[in-house]
Amino acid sequence: MKYLLLIALALVLLWWWRTMGRRASGRGPENKAARETPVQAPDDMVACRHCGLHLPRPEAVTGQQGLYCSQAHQSAQEGS
Ligand SMILES: [Zn+2]
Repeated sequence: MKYLLLIALALVLLWWWRTMGRRASGRGPENKAARETPVQAPDDMVACRHCGLHLPRPEAVTGQQGLYCSQAHQSAQEGS
């Protein structure tokens, strides 16, 4: 019975070692994707057509002639 327990323990250790190995290898692509996301964010910057201020694209005001930092600069540039 002692041998059976040792074999069972060895199998559990082997299974645990393989599971840990898969987790370690699976971290690579996840970390790579997490690193690429913040790098892409600064690229998504636009310049105000009126004053040249750089701001994130989601915060920019879209006008007929381009993107602006605020509604006031869009009105000043396009006269609407
Ligand atoms: Zn502006």
